[in-house]
Amino acid sequence: MDKVNVVIIGGGISGLMAATRLIEKQPTLKITLIEKGHDITQRNCPIITGKVPSCINCATCGVMEGLAGAGAYSDGKYIISTEYGGWLTDFLPNKTVLNYIEQADAIMVSHGATTERYLPSNELKTLCLQHDLHMQQAQVKHLGTDANYLTMIKLVDALRQKITIITDAEVKDVDAKNKIVSYTKSKNAYQIESDAIIFAVGRAGSRFFSTWCATNKIPLINNQVDIGVRVELPYEVWMHFSKLIYEPKIWYRSKKYGDITRMFCFNEKGHVVMENTNDILTVNGHSFKEEHKKTPNSNFALLATIKFTTPFNDPIDYARHVAHMGNLISGGSVLVQRFGDLMQGRRTDEKRLAANTVQPTLKAVAGDLSLCMPKRQLDNIIETLQALDEIAPGTANADTLLYGVECKYYSARPETIDFELVQSPNVYAIGDGAGFTRSLSQAAAHGLYVADLYLNKLKEKSHD
Ligand SMILES: Cc1cc2nc3c(=O)[nH]c(=O)nc-3n(C[C@H](O)[C@H](O)[C@H](O)COP(=O)(O)OP(=O)(O)OC[C@H]3O[C@@H](n4cnc5c(N)ncnc54)[C@H](O)[C@@H]3O)c2cc1C
Repeated sequence: MDKVNVVIIGGGISGLMAATRLIEKQPTLKITLIEKGHDITQRNCPIITGKVPSCINCATCGVMEGLAGAGAYSDGKYIISTEYGGWLTDFLPNKTVLNYIEQADAIMVSHGATTERYLPSNELKTLCLQHDLHMQQAQVKHLGTDANYLTMIKLVDALRQKITIITDAEVKDVDAKNKIVSYTKSKNAYQIESDAIIFAVGRAGSRFFSTWCATNKIPLINNQVDIGVRVELPYEVWMHFSKLIYEPKIWYRSKKYGDITRMFCFNEKGHVVMENTNDILTVNGHSFKEEHKKTPNSNFALLATIKFTTPFNDPIDYARHVAHMGNLISGGSVLVQRFGDLMQGRRTDEKRLAANTVQPTLKAVAGDLSLCMPKRQLDNIIETLQALDEIAPGTANADTLLYGVECKYYSARPETIDFELVQSPNVYAIGDGAGFTRSLSQAAAHGLYVADLYLNKLKEKSHD
């Protein structure tokens, strides 16, 4: 059996940053990174390349899995702030998290990422407040899907000669006591022994990780789940915001239920895309920097937050059921509905969609979201769209398109001490898959932070 110093499970930005820091500070470490999906340049999604109109359930999802993780085809928005993007500040001082976000940004810049930043706007924040809307303030960098992808390739390439990267290999189990990682590659089973193990499995691996935690009696806390729609409209409607701050992130507390609904993940002149997480189809958004890839539409997520109390404690499964209902009634796809049709209580059909002034950028099935979305979430979405219409008139136009279902499920969070799993020395969990982060910048910062923690531990041990 091979023996190494550190095994990193998952080649998303958190795992890549952890590897980068470990090898930079201690070049003698033997590090193996195991990634379920393909190498970054081998990844592709047949929907994005236009080969198929809808998801064909590839063995590994090119959008979510593969080197560079879910970030590879993301819009490449880097939030240089702790105001949103994860929960690291529940565990670490604000200053520390921001410092690590800046360190991660410096690494991305060294691999070609832009240095340009959009700054917060008090003027727009005031406009929002006048309508009971709350805008979150942050410095934001926008790489764009294509420039982000190239930066990720360089980040991976910088590691290739220094660590062992195994792709198309899925970790099936971890023996935390004996530090043995079992994985399969090309249907063969392998084992590798290590001094330390870092779970960095992202959202695609969150089920595997939470099942593993349950089996190994590591207590888990479930985070919230956000359910809603992807809104698509003419880019001019939100131009006054995007010009100033690039990405509006606004939340609203509905009068009817007192629930929070958030507008975020804004893509100017972008595309709505379908994604597959563990066989459930949901929607998301992309935008490109290259002029020829831009569309006349912008899109954003509009999601209502749900936090369950006893006896139910499986918000992810709840969201999966809602999304599954959308897949079911769309015949194995996702739905699109005109806001006007939703308000009139009728489905959108192909004829009405063809005549719509906003043309969809994703081939989804014209239908009726009220048949799959719970009333409470739908009411929250309608009320929030109408509130947003006050600051960006046109948002609640009849021709605005709503795609469903979009979910952001945040992984269950394991009990840890300084991100080391309880009763499992030198086994760490980082990033989105462990429910600590929900953005590229915080996941990257988390990887660097935990790598530093482990390096300090090694240093202390060598002084003993
Ligand atoms: C379409 C899309 C757009 C996004 N846009 C943005 C954006 O613009 N800005 C932003 O801040 N965030 C964005 N996000 C979120 C961002 O991508 C994530 O927050 C970030 O990628 C989390 O990093 P991670 O390393 O924790 O996990 P991931 O990036 O998800 O990486 C985890 C990796 O682990 C692998 N893995 C899982 N299980 C196993 C296993 N058992 N064995 C081996 N490997 C395994 C997976 O294949 C995956 O490659 C977007 C997400 C998506 C899906």
